Amino acid sequence: MLSIKQLNKTYDNGVKAINDVTLEIGHGMFGLLGPNGAGKSSLMRTIATLQDPDSGSITFNGLDVLAEPQALRRQLGYLPQDFGVYPKVSADVLLNHFAVLKGLTARGERKEAVEALLQQTNLWDARKRNLGTYSGGMRQRFGIAQALLGAPKLVIVDEPTAGLDPDERNRFLNLLARIGEQVVVILSTHIVEDVTDLCPQMAVIVKGQVLVQGEPQAAIDTL
Ligand code: ADP
Ligand code: ADP
Repeated sequence: MLSIKQLNKTYDNGVKAINDVTLEIGHGMFGLLGPNGAGKSSLMRTIATLQDPDSGSITFNGLDVLAEPQALRRQLGYLPQDFGVYPKVSADVLLNHFAVLKGLTARGERKEAVEALLQQTNLWDARKRNLGTYSGGMRQRFGIAQALLGAPKLVIVDEPTAGLDPDERNRFLNLLARIGEQVVVILSTHIVEDVTDLCPQMAVIVKGQVLVQGEPQAAIDTL
């Protein structure tokens, strides 16, 4: 369970990107819906401990995230909005490399984890191909594979469906929903259907503020 209380962040340019945000996020994929500039990325970077808020608290299963960022990072998988891949490296080589960086140093264990993730994200048959030849959907699935290295308990995925065609989008969201059955998954998006299709719980965020949270249809109906 991720608990965010009265979180605030104003950037140096005066933009209040996070405005008194309070959220309770449990199991099952959680959708964070909002237009461009709503503050979704700011909130996700803050949960991922990549930037500090001005005030407020974040706890994950009792852990004080802001006090112990390293402990959170060990349990975190993060797919940023601007996740870039090296075009001239194959998926299996790069995933193996990320696994080493994640601390999976035992060779056998690492090989097993990399293979399992390539299977899970349906990239096994394409594992020897250079990432530059991948479609947008394949790249996002590779992004999820790297985020899942080290068996995270919290997975944060920022605007992953932008630019995906309908088939890839469905495939990708179904993959996330399956992951969400096991661990906490937070999906940020500006596409209403991304949350109404598969997220049991969601929040709408506009101008840094949570307008409403709850079950998608009920929440959207109140707007
Ligand atoms: P979203 O992810 O919903 O598009 P962001 O969190 O990226 O929203 O941005 C929220 C607001 O904060 C926007 O007005 C954006 O321009 C501004 N912003 C984001 N990052 C920074 C930053 N590092 N410095 C200043 N302003 C920022
Ligand atoms: P998003 O689509 O999530 O709003 P952006 O394209 O706004 O993302 O932001 C990309 C990067 O630029 C982020 O690292 C963000 O912190 C930074 N950024 C966004 N807006 C501003 C801003 N007004 N001033 C400075 N940095 C910004």
